[in-house]
Amino acid sequence: KRNIAVMTSGGDAPGMNAVVYAVVRTAIFKGCKAFAVKEGYEGLVRGGPQYITEMEWQDVRGILSEGGTNIGTARCMSFRERPGRVQACKNMIDAGIDALIVCGGDGSLTGADKLRSEWPSLIKELRDNNQITEEQYIKHKQLNICGIVGSIDNDMATTDATVGAYSALARICKAVDYIDATANSHSRAFVVEVMGRNCGWLALMAGIATSADYIFIPEKPSSSKDWQDQMCEIVATHRAHGKRKTIVIVAEGAITSDLKHISSKEVKDVLVERLNLDTRVTTLGHVQRGGTPVVFDRILASLQGVEAVKAVLDCDENTPSPLIGLKEHKIVRRPLMEAVKITKSVADAIQTSDFEKAMALRDSEFIE
Ligand code: ADP
Repeated sequence: KRNIAVMTSGGDAPGMNAVVYAVVRTAIFKGCKAFAVKEGYEGLVRGGPQYITEMEWQDVRGILSEGGTNIGTARCMSFRERPGRVQACKNMIDAGIDALIVCGGDGSLTGADKLRSEWPSLIKELRDNNQITEEQYIKHKQLNICGIVGSIDNDMATTDATVGAYSALARICKAVDYIDATANSHSRAFVVEVMGRNCGWLALMAGIATSADYIFIPEKPSSSKDWQDQMCEIVATHRAHGKRKTIVIVAEGAITSDLKHISSKEVKDVLVERLNLDTRVTTLGHVQRGGTPVVFDRILASLQGVEAVKAVLDCDENTPSPLIGLKEHKIVRRPLMEAVKITKSVADAIQTSDFEKAMALRDSEFIE
Protein backbone atom coordinates (compact mmCIF):
# COMPACT_ATOMS: atom_id res chain seq x y z
CA LYS A 1 0.00 0.00 0.00
CA ARG A 2 1.44 3.29 -1.08
CA ASN A 3 1.38 6.84 0.23
CA ILE A 4 0.11 8.75 -2.78
CA ALA A 5 0.47 12.53 -3.07
CA VAL A 6 -1.35 14.71 -5.57
CA MET A 7 -0.18 18.14 -6.68
CA THR A 8 -1.47 20.85 -9.01
CA SER A 9 1.21 22.95 -10.67
CA GLY A 10 1.77 25.70 -13.25
CA GLY A 11 -1.16 27.70 -14.63
CA ASP A 12 -4.46 26.85 -12.93
CA ALA A 13 -7.18 25.17 -14.97
CA PRO A 14 -10.84 24.41 -14.22
CA GLY A 15 -11.10 20.72 -13.33
CA MET A 16 -7.92 20.55 -11.23
CA ASN A 17 -10.06 20.25 -8.09
CA ALA A 18 -11.86 17.30 -9.65
CA VAL A 19 -8.49 15.63 -10.25
CA VAL A 20 -7.58 16.10 -6.56
CA TYR A 21 -10.99 14.79 -5.51
CA ALA A 22 -10.69 11.68 -7.68
CA VAL A 23 -7.10 10.92 -6.66
CA VAL A 24 -7.74 11.32 -2.92
CA ARG A 25 -10.89 9.24 -2.90
CA THR A 26 -9.53 6.51 -5.18
CA ALA A 27 -6.31 6.26 -3.17
CA ILE A 28 -8.24 5.86 0.10
CA PHE A 29 -10.68 3.43 -1.54
CA LYS A 30 -7.69 1.30 -2.60
CA GLY A 31 -6.38 1.21 0.98
CA CYS A 32 -3.59 3.76 0.44
CA LYS A 33 -2.91 6.99 2.27
CA ALA A 34 -3.60 10.18 0.30
CA PHE A 35 -1.66 13.44 0.59
CA ALA A 36 -1.98 16.86 -1.04
CA VAL A 37 1.11 18.89 -1.89
CA LYS A 38 0.14 22.55 -1.53
CA GLU A 39 1.36 25.33 -3.87
CA GLY A 40 2.90 23.07 -6.53
CA TYR A 41 6.63 22.33 -6.40
CA GLU A 42 7.02 25.17 -3.89
CA GLY A 43 5.22 22.92 -1.38
CA LEU A 44 7.53 20.00 -2.11
CA VAL A 45 10.62 22.17 -1.61
CA ARG A 46 9.26 23.74 1.62
CA GLY A 47 7.93 20.44 3.00
CA GLY A 48 6.40 19.68 6.40
CA PRO A 49 2.77 18.82 7.17
CA GLN A 50 1.66 22.33 6.28
CA TYR A 51 2.71 21.76 2.66
CA ILE A 52 2.53 17.96 2.38
CA THR A 53 -0.77 17.30 4.10
CA GLU A 54 -2.53 14.01 4.61
CA MET A 55 -6.05 14.12 3.14
CA GLU A 56 -9.02 12.27 4.56
CA TRP A 57 -12.13 11.28 2.63
CA GLN A 58 -14.09 14.33 3.84
CA ASP A 59 -11.30 16.81 3.07
CA VAL A 60 -12.27 16.88 -0.60
CA ARG A 61 -16.02 16.87 -0.07
CA GLY A 62 -17.77 19.30 -2.42
CA ILE A 63 -14.70 20.43 -4.36
CA LEU A 64 -15.28 18.46 -7.57
CA SER A 65 -17.33 21.19 -9.23
CA GLU A 66 -15.29 24.16 -7.99
CA GLY A 67 -13.07 26.16 -10.37
CA GLY A 68 -9.34 26.74 -9.90
CA THR A 69 -7.39 24.56 -7.49
CA ASN A 70 -8.02 24.68 -3.74
CA ILE A 71 -4.65 23.11 -2.86
CA GLY A 72 -2.95 26.00 -4.65
CA THR A 73 -0.53 26.17 -7.52
CA ALA A 74 2.64 28.17 -8.01
CA ARG A 75 5.64 28.64 -10.20
CA CYS A 76 8.75 27.53 -8.32
CA MET A 77 12.24 28.60 -9.43
CA SER A 78 14.16 26.56 -6.86
CA PHE A 79 12.74 23.24 -8.14
CA ARG A 80 14.40 23.96 -11.50
CA GLU A 81 17.81 23.60 -9.81
CA ARG A 82 19.17 20.37 -8.33
CA PRO A 83 19.50 21.62 -4.72
CA GLY A 84 15.75 22.40 -4.77
CA ARG A 85 15.02 18.88 -5.99
CA VAL A 86 17.30 17.35 -3.33
CA GLN A 87 15.29 19.24 -0.69
CA ALA A 88 12.01 18.13 -2.32
CA CYS A 89 13.22 14.53 -2.24
CA LYS A 90 14.12 14.80 1.46
CA ASN A 91 10.73 16.34 2.32
CA MET A 92 8.89 13.61 0.43
CA ILE A 93 10.81 10.88 2.24
CA ASP A 94 10.18 12.57 5.62
CA ALA A 95 6.45 12.59 4.80
CA GLY A 96 6.66 8.95 3.66
CA ILE A 97 5.53 9.73 0.10
CA ASP A 98 6.37 7.05 -2.47
CA ALA A 99 4.06 8.00 -5.33
CA LEU A 100 3.31 11.42 -6.82
CA ILE A 101 0.56 12.43 -9.24
CA VAL A 102 1.22 15.80 -10.87
CA CYS A 103 -1.54 17.72 -12.63
CA GLY A 104 -0.11 20.60 -14.65
CA GLY A 105 1.14 21.82 -18.00
CA ASP A 106 4.18 20.74 -19.97
CA GLY A 107 6.55 22.63 -17.65
CA SER A 108 5.20 20.87 -14.56
CA LEU A 109 5.35 17.50 -16.25
CA THR A 110 8.94 18.14 -17.39
CA GLY A 111 9.74 18.80 -13.72
CA ALA A 112 7.97 15.55 -12.72
CA ASP A 113 9.92 13.58 -15.29
CA LYS A 114 13.17 15.11 -14.07
CA LEU A 115 12.38 14.21 -10.45
CA ARG A 116 11.67 10.61 -11.37
CA SER A 117 14.80 10.21 -13.51
CA GLU A 118 17.04 11.85 -10.90
CA TRP A 119 15.47 10.07 -7.94
CA PRO A 120 18.16 7.34 -7.54
CA SER A 121 20.94 9.93 -7.41
CA LEU A 122 18.93 12.26 -5.16
CA ILE A 123 18.33 9.59 -2.50
CA LYS A 124 21.95 8.45 -2.76
CA GLU A 125 23.14 12.01 -2.11
CA LEU A 126 20.84 12.25 0.92
CA ARG A 127 22.08 8.91 2.30
CA ASP A 128 25.73 9.76 1.70
CA ASN A 129 25.22 13.02 3.61
CA ASN A 130 23.40 11.19 6.42
CA GLN A 131 20.22 13.17 5.78
CA ILE A 132 18.20 9.97 5.54
CA THR A 133 18.73 6.62 7.22
CA GLU A 134 19.74 3.42 5.43
CA GLU A 135 16.27 2.12 6.20
CA GLN A 136 14.62 5.15 4.53
CA TYR A 137 17.00 4.77 1.59
CA ILE A 138 15.94 1.18 0.99
CA LYS A 139 12.25 1.90 1.52
CA HIS A 140 12.23 4.86 -0.90
CA LYS A 141 14.39 3.45 -3.67
CA GLN A 142 11.51 3.77 -6.07
CA LEU A 143 9.34 6.81 -6.68
CA ASN A 144 6.31 6.29 -8.88
CA ILE A 145 5.23 9.36 -10.79
CA CYS A 146 2.22 9.90 -13.00
CA GLY A 147 1.14 12.97 -14.96
CA ILE A 148 -2.27 14.38 -15.80
CA VAL A 149 -2.36 17.38 -18.11
CA GLY A 150 -4.12 20.32 -16.49
CA SER A 151 -3.99 23.22 -18.92
CA ILE A 152 -6.52 25.46 -20.63
CA ASP A 153 -4.29 25.56 -23.74
CA ASN A 154 -4.79 21.94 -24.91
CA ASP A 155 -1.19 22.01 -26.03
CA MET A 156 0.10 18.59 -24.94
CA ALA A 157 0.97 15.98 -27.54
CA THR A 158 -0.39 12.40 -27.30
CA THR A 159 -3.65 13.46 -25.64
CA ASP A 160 -6.75 14.82 -27.37
CA ALA A 161 -7.90 16.98 -24.47
CA THR A 162 -6.31 18.52 -21.39
CA VAL A 163 -8.22 19.17 -18.17
CA GLY A 164 -9.57 22.75 -18.35
CA ALA A 165 -9.43 23.33 -22.11
CA TYR A 166 -13.15 22.77 -22.75
CA SER A 167 -14.10 24.99 -19.80
CA ALA A 168 -11.95 27.82 -21.16
CA LEU A 169 -13.43 27.26 -24.61
CA ALA A 170 -16.96 27.44 -23.19
CA ARG A 171 -16.10 30.72 -21.44
CA ILE A 172 -14.67 32.21 -24.65
CA CYS A 173 -17.77 31.22 -26.62
CA LYS A 174 -20.05 32.72 -23.97
CA ALA A 175 -18.06 35.96 -24.08
CA VAL A 176 -18.26 36.08 -27.88
CA ASP A 177 -22.03 35.49 -27.67
CA TYR A 178 -22.27 38.57 -25.43
CA ILE A 179 -20.07 40.59 -27.76
CA ASP A 180 -22.14 39.44 -30.75
CA ALA A 181 -25.21 41.24 -29.46
CA THR A 182 -23.50 44.57 -29.08
CA ALA A 183 -21.52 44.16 -32.33
CA ASN A 184 -24.73 43.46 -34.21
CA SER A 185 -26.55 46.40 -32.64
CA HIS A 186 -23.86 48.93 -33.55
CA SER A 187 -22.69 47.17 -36.71
CA ARG A 188 -19.23 46.96 -35.13
CA ALA A 189 -16.18 44.77 -35.53
CA PHE A 190 -14.58 43.10 -32.52
CA VAL A 191 -11.11 41.68 -32.30
CA VAL A 192 -11.20 39.08 -29.52
CA GLU A 193 -7.85 37.97 -28.10
CA VAL A 194 -7.76 34.54 -26.48
CA MET A 195 -5.12 32.61 -24.52
CA GLY A 196 -3.28 29.47 -25.62
CA ARG A 197 0.42 30.43 -25.55
CA ASN A 198 1.93 28.96 -28.74
CA CYS A 199 -1.08 26.72 -29.37
CA GLY A 200 -4.04 27.86 -31.47
CA TRP A 201 -6.56 25.27 -30.26
CA LEU A 202 -8.69 27.69 -28.23
CA ALA A 203 -8.80 30.26 -31.05
CA LEU A 204 -9.53 27.64 -33.71
CA MET A 205 -12.31 25.90 -31.77
CA ALA A 206 -13.82 29.21 -30.65
CA GLY A 207 -13.75 30.35 -34.27
CA ILE A 208 -15.73 27.29 -35.34
CA ALA A 209 -18.16 27.42 -32.41
CA THR A 210 -18.99 31.12 -32.83
CA SER A 211 -18.76 31.24 -36.64
CA ALA A 212 -16.15 33.99 -36.42
CA ASP A 213 -15.28 35.83 -39.62
CA TYR A 214 -11.55 35.26 -39.33
CA ILE A 215 -9.02 33.72 -36.94
CA PHE A 216 -5.30 33.98 -36.36
CA ILE A 217 -3.46 30.93 -34.97
CA PRO A 218 0.26 30.23 -34.68
CA GLU A 219 0.09 26.93 -36.56
CA LYS A 220 -1.16 28.29 -39.88
CA PRO A 221 0.27 31.75 -40.39
CA SER A 222 0.18 33.91 -43.51
CA SER A 223 3.09 36.07 -44.54
CA SER A 224 3.45 39.59 -43.13
CA LYS A 225 2.57 40.82 -46.61
CA ASP A 226 -0.59 38.77 -47.10
CA TRP A 227 -2.54 38.51 -43.83
CA GLN A 228 -4.07 41.95 -44.08
CA ASP A 229 -5.36 41.40 -47.64
CA GLN A 230 -6.69 37.95 -46.79
CA MET A 231 -8.58 39.12 -43.72
CA CYS A 232 -9.96 42.28 -45.36
CA GLU A 233 -11.17 40.39 -48.41
CA ILE A 234 -13.15 37.90 -46.33
CA VAL A 235 -14.55 40.47 -43.91
CA ALA A 236 -15.51 42.78 -46.79
CA THR A 237 -17.30 39.90 -48.56
CA HIS A 238 -19.29 39.08 -45.41
CA ARG A 239 -20.22 42.74 -45.01
CA ALA A 240 -21.25 42.94 -48.68
CA HIS A 241 -23.66 40.07 -48.00
CA GLY A 242 -25.33 42.18 -45.36
CA LYS A 243 -23.60 40.94 -42.18
CA ARG A 244 -23.75 43.67 -39.53
CA LYS A 245 -21.13 42.30 -37.19
CA THR A 246 -17.55 41.16 -37.56
CA ILE A 247 -15.71 38.88 -35.14
CA VAL A 248 -11.99 38.22 -35.54
CA ILE A 249 -10.36 35.88 -33.02
CA VAL A 250 -6.66 36.28 -32.37
CA ALA A 251 -4.64 33.67 -30.46
CA GLU A 252 -2.21 35.34 -28.05
CA GLY A 253 0.62 33.51 -29.82
CA ALA A 254 -0.48 34.50 -33.35
CA ILE A 255 2.45 35.03 -35.69
CA THR A 256 3.23 35.61 -39.34
CA SER A 257 5.07 32.97 -41.37
CA ASP A 258 8.25 34.99 -40.80
CA LEU A 259 7.60 34.73 -37.03
CA LYS A 260 6.48 38.29 -36.30
CA HIS A 261 3.87 38.52 -33.55
CA ILE A 262 0.44 39.71 -34.72
CA SER A 263 -1.17 41.85 -32.03
CA SER A 264 -4.90 42.48 -31.61
CA LYS A 265 -4.18 46.19 -31.89
CA GLU A 266 -2.58 45.72 -35.33
CA VAL A 267 -5.60 43.70 -36.49
CA LYS A 268 -7.94 46.39 -35.22
CA ASP A 269 -5.98 49.16 -36.98
CA VAL A 270 -6.22 47.30 -40.29
CA LEU A 271 -10.01 46.86 -39.95
CA VAL A 272 -10.38 50.58 -39.15
CA GLU A 273 -8.03 51.92 -41.79
CA ARG A 274 -8.82 49.63 -44.68
CA LEU A 275 -12.49 48.80 -44.14
CA ASN A 276 -13.54 51.82 -42.14
CA LEU A 277 -15.17 49.58 -39.51
CA ASP A 278 -15.93 50.83 -36.01
CA THR A 279 -13.66 48.29 -34.28
CA ARG A 280 -12.96 47.40 -30.63
CA VAL A 281 -10.46 45.03 -29.05
CA THR A 282 -11.58 42.70 -26.25
CA THR A 283 -8.80 40.79 -24.50
CA LEU A 284 -10.55 38.09 -22.51
CA GLY A 285 -7.62 37.47 -20.16
CA HIS A 286 -8.08 35.51 -16.94
CA VAL A 287 -11.86 35.26 -17.32
CA GLN A 288 -10.96 32.27 -19.52
CA ARG A 289 -9.51 30.42 -16.54
CA GLY A 290 -12.29 31.28 -14.12
CA GLY A 291 -15.54 29.71 -13.10
CA THR A 292 -16.63 26.14 -12.61
CA PRO A 293 -15.45 23.35 -14.91
CA VAL A 294 -17.82 22.29 -17.67
CA VAL A 295 -19.21 18.76 -17.46
CA PHE A 296 -16.63 17.42 -19.93
CA ASP A 297 -13.74 18.56 -17.71
CA ARG A 298 -15.39 17.18 -14.57
CA ILE A 299 -15.69 13.77 -16.17
CA LEU A 300 -12.28 13.85 -17.85
CA ALA A 301 -10.62 14.88 -14.56
CA SER A 302 -12.51 12.24 -12.55
CA LEU A 303 -11.72 9.38 -14.93
CA GLN A 304 -8.10 10.43 -15.29
CA GLY A 305 -7.69 10.82 -11.52
CA VAL A 306 -8.92 7.25 -10.99
CA GLU A 307 -6.65 5.96 -13.76
CA ALA A 308 -3.64 7.83 -12.34
CA VAL A 309 -3.99 6.04 -8.99
CA LYS A 310 -4.28 2.69 -10.77
CA ALA A 311 -1.21 3.57 -12.86
CA VAL A 312 1.02 4.43 -9.89
CA LEU A 313 -0.06 1.20 -8.19
CA ASP A 314 0.82 -0.79 -11.34
CA CYS A 315 4.26 0.79 -11.91
CA ASP A 316 7.52 -0.95 -11.10
CA GLU A 317 11.04 0.41 -11.57
CA ASN A 318 11.06 -0.71 -15.21
CA THR A 319 7.85 1.08 -16.22
CA PRO A 320 8.38 4.51 -17.71
CA SER A 321 6.36 7.19 -15.88
CA PRO A 322 2.91 7.33 -17.44
CA LEU A 323 0.91 10.30 -18.62
CA ILE A 324 -2.83 9.79 -18.43
CA GLY A 325 -4.30 10.96 -21.72
CA LEU A 326 -7.46 10.82 -23.77
CA LYS A 327 -7.39 9.23 -27.23
CA GLU A 328 -10.55 8.88 -29.29
CA HIS A 329 -12.74 9.07 -26.16
CA LYS A 330 -10.75 6.46 -24.26
CA ILE A 331 -8.63 7.12 -21.19
CA VAL A 332 -5.12 5.91 -22.04
CA ARG A 333 -1.62 5.70 -20.54
CA ARG A 334 1.26 7.12 -22.56
CA PRO A 335 4.94 7.47 -21.69
CA LEU A 336 5.24 10.85 -19.94
CA MET A 337 8.74 11.52 -21.28
CA GLU A 338 7.63 10.92 -24.87
CA ALA A 339 4.66 13.29 -24.53
CA VAL A 340 6.85 16.05 -23.08
CA LYS A 341 9.46 15.49 -25.82
CA ILE A 342 6.95 15.69 -28.66
CA THR A 343 5.31 18.78 -27.14
CA LYS A 344 8.71 20.51 -27.02
CA SER A 345 9.44 19.49 -30.62
CA VAL A 346 6.12 21.06 -31.72
CA ALA A 347 7.14 24.35 -30.10
CA ASP A 348 10.60 24.11 -31.70
CA ALA A 349 9.09 23.42 -35.14
CA ILE A 350 6.90 26.52 -34.83
CA GLN A 351 9.92 28.58 -33.73
CA THR A 352 11.73 27.55 -36.92
CA SER A 353 8.68 28.17 -39.17
CA ASP A 354 8.27 24.46 -39.92
CA PHE A 355 4.48 24.54 -39.53
CA GLU A 356 3.76 21.32 -41.39
CA LYS A 357 6.13 19.42 -39.13
CA ALA A 358 4.49 21.03 -36.07
CA MET A 359 1.04 19.83 -37.14
CA ALA A 360 2.29 16.33 -37.99
CA LEU A 361 4.09 16.06 -34.64
CA ARG A 362 1.05 17.19 -32.69
CA ASP A 363 -0.93 14.30 -34.17
CA SER A 364 1.84 11.78 -33.65
CA GLU A 365 2.33 9.35 -30.82
CA PHE A 366 6.06 8.85 -31.02
CA ILE A 367 9.10 10.67 -32.35
CA GLU A 368 10.97 8.66 -34.97
P1 ADP B 1 3.04 24.75 -16.80
O1 ADP B 1 3.12 23.50 -15.99
O2 ADP B 1 1.66 25.34 -16.79
O3 ADP B 1 3.64 24.58 -18.18
P2 ADP B 1 5.46 26.17 -15.92
O4 ADP B 1 6.19 26.00 -17.21
O5 ADP B 1 5.54 27.51 -15.26
O6 ADP B 1 3.89 25.86 -16.02
O7 ADP B 1 6.01 25.07 -14.90
C1 ADP B 1 5.52 24.98 -13.58
C2 ADP B 1 6.64 24.64 -12.63
O8 ADP B 1 7.21 23.36 -12.98
C3 ADP B 1 7.83 25.59 -12.64
O9 ADP B 1 7.62 26.73 -11.84
C4 ADP B 1 8.95 24.71 -12.09
O10 ADP B 1 8.88 24.64 -10.68
C5 ADP B 1 8.60 23.35 -12.67
N1 ADP B 1 9.38 23.13 -13.91
C6 ADP B 1 9.11 23.57 -15.15
N2 ADP B 1 10.08 23.21 -16.02
C7 ADP B 1 11.00 22.52 -15.30
C8 ADP B 1 12.26 21.89 -15.60
N3 ADP B 1 12.77 21.88 -16.83
N4 ADP B 1 12.93 21.28 -14.59
C9 ADP B 1 12.42 21.27 -13.34
N5 ADP B 1 11.27 21.85 -12.99
C10 ADP B 1 10.56 22.48 -13.94
